[in-house]
Amino acid sequence: MTATVTEVETVRGPVPTADLGVTLMHEHVFVLTPDSQANWSDEWDEETKVAEAIDKLTQLAAIGVRTIVDPTVDGLGRDIRRVARVNEAVPQLNIIPATGVYTYADVPGFFAERGPGALPDLPEPMVDLFVRDITEGIQGTDVKAAFFKCAIDHHGLTPGVERVMRAVARAHAQTGAPVMVHNRPAGNTMAEVARVLGEEGVDPRRVQLAHMGDSSDVDLLAGLAEQGFLLGMDRFGLEPILGFEERVATVVELCRRGWSHRMVLAHDAACYIDWLQPDLLPFLPNWNYLHIHEDVVPALLDRGVTQEQVDDMLVGNPRAWFERR
Ligand SMILES: [Zn+2]
Repeated sequence: MTATVTEVETVRGPVPTADLGVTLMHEHVFVLTPDSQANWSDEWDEETKVAEAIDKLTQLAAIGVRTIVDPTVDGLGRDIRRVARVNEAVPQLNIIPATGVYTYADVPGFFAERGPGALPDLPEPMVDLFVRDITEGIQGTDVKAAFFKCAIDHHGLTPGVERVMRAVARAHAQTGAPVMVHNRPAGNTMAEVARVLGEEGVDPRRVQLAHMGDSSDVDLLAGLAEQGFLLGMDRFGLEPILGFEERVATVVELCRRGWSHRMVLAHDAACYIDWLQPDLLPFLPNWNYLHIHEDVVPALLDRGVTQEQVDDMLVGNPRAWFERR
């Protein structure tokens, strides 16, 4: 007997996957470094930042986006109460929260001497913590996470990165919630992801490779799609990494080759991110929540992508990724 899970947890509670509608598959509300910020920053003002976020997400909902998938976890300043406060004022938008740890190198200091590699070697505590976020709630609230997030970047598969990735895989095995992995396609980190998650028995169809849109290597991307991975074409507007035309052309060619059912679209934007000096934002004029609807979708349609393929990437694929069979 096979059961299908047709509801997904959001910040405002479970929503039928059929009601997710137009979904941007990788957008943050806030990306913060709470420790550094408390020590050094004079940019943060809680009331102002919450009000700005409400304004930006209201505009996003007004253009027809019903859902954003927010992979903000430990390492990115996750504060689910703050996101819930924002979402309360934008109830027309679903925000899907994540659990996991975001690191490119070592585990956060909190986990350094808790778990494998500690003296003495201890069992991995991350697995139960991640499962708790999925089954009970995040940070003592009843808001449940709906997917897992981990990362691998220019340092490759460090012991810390591998520890998080395997913990995510084991929590996935217990819960069935899907897995999103931050990648650096220029370093072909996807090969390590495929190997480690493969060893853990994770089905590639449950795995979203984030930031594949930073690559224009269509053969490489088609190969990953063929293995079953969902490709995050998810950094539209981050043009210093890859320009608009290249990002669009890559999606167009993958659609032409029949892979629209293996791609999702997003900006990896945030209402506020403390990683960037504010004077840099004018150099990223398209890095905002509206760019896909205002510029990218028209360009895709113009270059031969069909409305049905756009709907795959914005509606059908997000829905299918959250449905568990
Ligand atoms: Zn991100």
